[in-house]
Amino acid sequence: MSGEIQQRFHARSIQDPDGFWREQSTLVHWETPFDQVLDYSRPPFARWFVGGKTNLCYNAVDRHLAARGDQNAVVYISSETGVEKHYTFRQLHAEVNRFAAVLKRLGVGQGDRVIIYMPMIAEALFAMLACTRIGAIHSVVFGGFAAHSLATRIDDARPLVMITADAGMRSGKSVRYKPLVDEACRLAQFPPQHVLIVDRGIDPEMSRMPGRDVDYAELREAVGEATVPVTWLESNAPSYILYTSGTTGKPKGVQRDTGGYAVALAASMHHIFCGKPGEAMFTTSDIGWVVGHSYIVYAPLIHGMTTIMYEGLPTRPDAGIWWKIVAQQGVTVMFSSPTAIRVLKKQDPKYLSQHNLQSLRTLFLAGEPLDEPTARWISDGLAVPVVDNYWQTETGWPILSAMPGVEDTPRKYGSPSFPVYGYNVALLDENTGQEVGADQKGVLAIVPPLPPGCLSTIWGDDARFVSTYFSLLKERKVYSSFDWGIRDQDGYYFILGRTDDVINVAGHRLGTREIEEAISGHANIAEVAVVGVEDKVKGQVPVAFAVVRNASSLQDDAALAALEKEVMETVDQRLGGIARPARVHFVTLLPKTRSGKLLRRSIQALAEGRDPGDLTTLDDASALEQIRAALVSRR
Ligand code: AMP
Repeated sequence: MSGEIQQRFHARSIQDPDGFWREQSTLVHWETPFDQVLDYSRPPFARWFVGGKTNLCYNAVDRHLAARGDQNAVVYISSETGVEKHYTFRQLHAEVNRFAAVLKRLGVGQGDRVIIYMPMIAEALFAMLACTRIGAIHSVVFGGFAAHSLATRIDDARPLVMITADAGMRSGKSVRYKPLVDEACRLAQFPPQHVLIVDRGIDPEMSRMPGRDVDYAELREAVGEATVPVTWLESNAPSYILYTSGTTGKPKGVQRDTGGYAVALAASMHHIFCGKPGEAMFTTSDIGWVVGHSYIVYAPLIHGMTTIMYEGLPTRPDAGIWWKIVAQQGVTVMFSSPTAIRVLKKQDPKYLSQHNLQSLRTLFLAGEPLDEPTARWISDGLAVPVVDNYWQTETGWPILSAMPGVEDTPRKYGSPSFPVYGYNVALLDENTGQEVGADQKGVLAIVPPLPPGCLSTIWGDDARFVSTYFSLLKERKVYSSFDWGIRDQDGYYFILGRTDDVINVAGHRLGTREIEEAISGHANIAEVAVVGVEDKVKGQVPVAFAVVRNASSLQDDAALAALEKEVMETVDQRLGGIARPARVHFVTLLPKTRSGKLLRRSIQALAEGRDPGDLTTLDDASALEQIRAALVSRR
């Protein structure tokens, strides 16, 4: 039976975590060997590689100097500014050392927090590595967050220094960062002592606050060719905090350790992503998200690969830009998101075949459900296998994935395949707490200890860590992912949506994801969001907001009504009448966060006549306007 090798590999990681992770630990450098692989004396807090001393920056940069000092470590490409810069490992080492020297000059030391609020420029990556070099804890805040969100994070992390830039660029327009930083510092109770500014020269109007604001270029000059010794950290020392939203308004500061994270990432490059040292990896995320932390910055560099750092849209100057980069840089491993692919799907497919993509072995997609039509479209269009992988900010690396480096198992569209080694995944009945059988829906849980690399706690709030993630069952502590999952007869997992986005229609529980998947099967639907809307009789009914592939075919109301009926019939056919949306509204854009997640809650709130809530992460405000307009239109 296919999958046996990966099953054995997985089973060993669960049955003998000490032996398994001791082997994986050799993939990184330990300055001082650890005494204990796992300390699980205080569940659910897991401490990995206790007593061992290491450093993320050393593993990502210094360790490669001897063997690959002249190989590119970072290729920075901005389609917004036209800048392309290559940094060898030696040059990266020099830049990171200078950045670290600047931070030290500003008084930053081990354990101090540094907020990085920056666009996709190489200095952002230098800043992250400079922090980990000296044992400072970075917290990258995505550049799209507004001042209020930034202030909340400042007050939680209490940084000594904040690093920013004058501006970012998006779609040819400058996006000013500094005024937001000023406003956030004004709003915050515990503002940073210094704001370190990388001036890109985009915003000539940028103002500076004397005493607080300092210029990176000036300080970089001042420190010269400085070298800063690595600070060796005990494996469980925090490396970074990354804020993520949950069901409450207060963002959670996901805290990551040092040694466990290094080992988890290094192992994932071997067993899942299968890049080879010396090759190039292109991850299209942003450093503000967990995918950016793990697979733009740390993992490829720890693995001795060249990482491609890209500023810009996938469709500018045209929809072939990513494939041009793949061809020019000889990218072998690419990592993107389903949303990005759906954006490309709306463009002319000719862009997929204009460049020589022979180097590309695999395209990894993660972050949200990957619908079958999108997966097929891109896999066929590029003629490369697509690997869907499922994980969360909290875990830092994949929970479910195919693991081509362990065994090349066949993939099923719509499924992120199997539990990854180290994760003891269970699908639990939320009422009984019992494991569900094949083809039955359950809450995807992880039986602790969580493997290396996962969050060690919530920054400054151990109690919240336990109460948020480990209270699914009363009788024992298991980690809840807040996702519904199902495992088929062959052992393949499917994610059905968040437990908190579930729809209950006349007592039947339905995942919004299931309905969206069904609707996406209609040939004329490019993208769709389904939300549960309050209904007096059935409790909730599904309502769909769909983006049409060929809008020119819908000239009048009659055509729209006909398409709505067809979409409903598609759902009837795939899932049954129970899942049929009460209405299908047509829009040209869906409201999403800047990281591409659908703002289902806001859509749902509007559909129920409520306030759409926190919109600080909304990418394009006109998308919500379209939802509003669709809801009031009489058709
Ligand atoms: P984030 O922490 O923002 O990356 O969001 C994590 C959530 O995104 C998960 O809990 C899932 O709901 C969703 N997610 C991530 N990857 C996938 C995937 N491959 N398939 C389905 N849902 C996913």
